[in-house]
Amino acid sequence: MIFRVLSRLSVKVPSFVYRIEMTMKPQVVFVLGGPGAGKGTQCAKIVENYSYTHLSAGDLLRAERNRGGSEYGQLIDSYIKEGKIVPVEITINLLKKAMEETMQIDEKKYRFLIDGFPRNEDNLQGWTKVMDGKADVKFVLFFDCSNEVCIDRCLERGKSSGRSDDNRESLEKRIQTYLQSTRPIVSLYEKQGKVRTVDASRDVDEVFADVKIILEREG
Ligand code: UDP
Ligand code: MG
Repeated sequence: MIFRVLSRLSVKVPSFVYRIEMTMKPQVVFVLGGPGAGKGTQCAKIVENYSYTHLSAGDLLRAERNRGGSEYGQLIDSYIKEGKIVPVEITINLLKKAMEETMQIDEKKYRFLIDGFPRNEDNLQGWTKVMDGKADVKFVLFFDCSNEVCIDRCLERGKSSGRSDDNRESLEKRIQTYLQSTRPIVSLYEKQGKVRTVDASRDVDEVFADVKIILEREG
C-alpha cells in the first residue's frame, strides 16, 4: 500500500519492491496420517491435477541428512531410524527455505501441501513461532488408516524403498510416535473444524476420488 502511495507521489520505487508487495501469502494444507497411510502417493496425484507444490518434511530431512557437510546429518539419521521426531528448529528451516525457493522461482506457486508435518507439539510450536502470519493453514488433509494396513504397506515398500525406517523394528516405533504425538495434533485441529478426513485404507484411485471432492469443495 505504502509503495503505491509513494509511486503516485512520483517517488521512485525499485521494481523488486513491487514484486515483494504483490507476492501472495503462502496457502498451506498440512497432510497427516500414519506411516504408509499414502500421504506421498496422494500428494503426487494432487500435484498432477491441481496447482500445489508438494513438500514432504521427511524427504527434506532425508535430503539434509544426505547433504555432504550438513551438521545435522548424524542426528537426523538416528532420529529417523528410531522413529523419533527431529527437533523442529531443523525441520522448520528446511520447510521455510523450500517454500521461499519455490516462490522465488515462480511467485504463482504459493499453494503448498506440507506432508508429514506438524507431527507433535514441538513441531506445531515451531511452526507458529516461525510462520505465524507468514502463511495461512487452510486445513489438514488427514489420511485415516489402520495401523495394520500402515505396517503392511511400509513393509512392502521396504522391499524397494531403501529407507532405513521401513523395517518392522523402526515401524513399531514410528507407529507409537504417531499414536502418542501426531494423533493429538490431528485432534487439536479437529476441534478447530480444520480437519478433512479420508478413509485411506482403500486403493489409490478410490482414495484420490475422495481427495478430489475435498479439494474442489475447498477451492
Ligand atoms: N520426521 C521428523 N519430522 C518431520 C517429518 C519427518 O522428524 O516433520 C522424521 C521422523 O523420524 C519420521 C521420518 O522422518 O519417522 C520419516 O518421515 P516420513 O514423513 O518420510 O514418513 P512417512 O510418514 O511418509 O512414512
Ligand atoms: Mg512420506
